Amino acid sequence: MVDECFDPALMNRMNTLDETDDISAKAHALTAAVIGHPIAHSRSPMIHNRWLAEEGLAGQYGVIDILPAALPAACDILRQSPMTGFNATLPHKEMLLDLCDEVDATARAIGAVNTVSVRDGRLYGTNTDAFGFMENLRQGAPEFDPAGKTALVLGAGGAARAVLFGLQAAGIGQILLLNRTRSKAEALAEAFPGVQVAEWAARQALLKDVQLLVNTTSLGMCGQPDLELDLGGVSPEALVTDLVYNPLQTSLLNHAAAKGCQTVTGLGMLVYQAQKAFEIWFGVRPAVTDELIKTLEDSL
Ligand code: NAP
Repeated sequence: MVDECFDPALMNRMNTLDETDDISAKAHALTAAVIGHPIAHSRSPMIHNRWLAEEGLAGQYGVIDILPAALPAACDILRQSPMTGFNATLPHKEMLLDLCDEVDATARAIGAVNTVSVRDGRLYGTNTDAFGFMENLRQGAPEFDPAGKTALVLGAGGAARAVLFGLQAAGIGQILLLNRTRSKAEALAEAFPGVQVAEWAARQALLKDVQLLVNTTSLGMCGQPDLELDLGGVSPEALVTDLVYNPLQTSLLNHAAAKGCQTVTGLGMLVYQAQKAFEIWFGVRPAVTDELIKTLEDSL
C-alpha cells in the first residue's frame, strides 16, 4: 500500500523552511524528522520517506532546523509532540545525552545520541551509527571477520567514537588510533580501553601491519583536501573503508582499489544507521534496495 499522505510538494516546502519557522508546527505535522543545523542538505528524508511508503505507513519524515541554543526548548516541544521519533545530526548529538529522559548504554558509550524515540511525553535516546558502520562492512565485505584483526583508524572526531565502539563490540583484535591533534585521540582512547594511540605522521609506516584501514576524518570530502597517504605499504589483503560518502569514491578508496584492496564506501553507513532507526521506531526492518542506493548515489 502506498502512503496516501506522502506529498512531495509539502516535503520540498519543509526542506526550504529556515530556522525562524515554528518548530512546533513541524513537530505536529511530521511523523519523524532529522534535527540539526544546518540541515537542509540532509538525505535522511529521501531514505525514510521511501521506506514509509514501501512499508505502507502513513506520515512524513522531514527536517527541522534547530539552532544549538534552542535545543533544550525544542526538546520540550518534541517531547509533547505526536512524533514517533527523530534523528539528530551535527551539532546536537552530544547535547542530547543530557536532554533525553533516558539514554541507553550504546549512546552513553559512544558519547552521542543520533536516534530518539518519543513515547508518552518522554525522549529515549540511542545511537545507531556503530550499527550502521558495522552493517556496512558486513554487507560490503561479508568475508571480513574483525576478530583478532588489527585496524588503523584515522581521525578522532564524533564519527570515530561510533567506529571504535562498533569494532570493539565486533571483537577486533587491536585498534591503532591516529589523529592530527594527538590529544583528541588520547582523550578518545581513554574512553575505549585497549585502543592504542600513535603519531599522525606515522600513518604510512603503520599501514603494513593492518588488515583494516578506516578514514573517519573529513579529509577527502567534497570541498576538503584529500587525505595524504601513500598506500604503497598496505597489503592487498587489507580492507579499506572511508566514512566520507560525497564523493562516493574518494581518492583513498581509488588508491586502495588500485593496490588490489577491497574497498567499502561510506554511503552504506548512512543507510544502515537509518535502517536501524526506522526499525526502532516502526518495528519493521526496511529493505536496502539497489534502487535506494542508486537514488542516493545520483543525489551526490
Ligand atoms: P568531526 O567531529 O568534525 O571530526 C573531524 C575529524 O577530521 C577530526 O579527527 C579532525 O582532526 C580531522 N581533520 C579535519 N581536517 C583535517 C586535516 N586537514 N588534516 C587531518 N585531519 C583533519 O567530524 P565527524 O562528525 O567525526 O565526521 C568526520 C567525517 O565522517 C565527515 O566527512 C562526515 O561527513 C563523515 N561521516 C560519515 C558518516 C556516514 O554515515 N558515512 C557518519 C558520520 C560522519 P582534528 O581533531 O585534528 O581537527
